[in-house]
Amino acid sequence: MLARHQIGAAILDAHGTIHLGLHLDAMVGRAAVCAEAVALGVARMSTAAPLILAAAVRHPKPDERTPPRLVPPCGLCRELLLDHAPDLAVVIGAPEGPRITALSHLLPHKYIGTKWAVPQPSSPAREGGCHGLPHAGT
Ligand SMILES: [Zn+2]
Repeated sequence: MLARHQIGAAILDAHGTIHLGLHLDAMVGRAAVCAEAVALGVARMSTAAPLILAAAVRHPKPDERTPPRLVPPCGLCRELLLDHAPDLAVVIGAPEGPRITALSHLLPHKYIGTKWAVPQPSSPAREGGCHGLPHAGT
């Protein structure tokens, strides 16, 4: 059972609360739900506070001999997270070690539809400010 849940995500809100999510695998692949989406739903169940930082970790399957590793949000999650948290920063793995970057840097040409007015990232996030979190560059 646990082998079906390799990815966990955490989202930090501006009040300091961490919201956790777990990847929900499914027999029909497109019915699966990413850990980031679950964490976003958990966060929005309890707060309207701005969401400022997210990270996801992939744990190895029982037969794998690789260590857990940071994984960036998939394309769908980049779209979803930016819809709900335009200033969100993410922790991503890099050869030199984990680093924090604005999610908008990972999806510079986000889809903008007509369903609702999309909040725009504040200018500091566009410039890499990320709510005062350390920024390791691009
Ligand atoms: Zn995803």
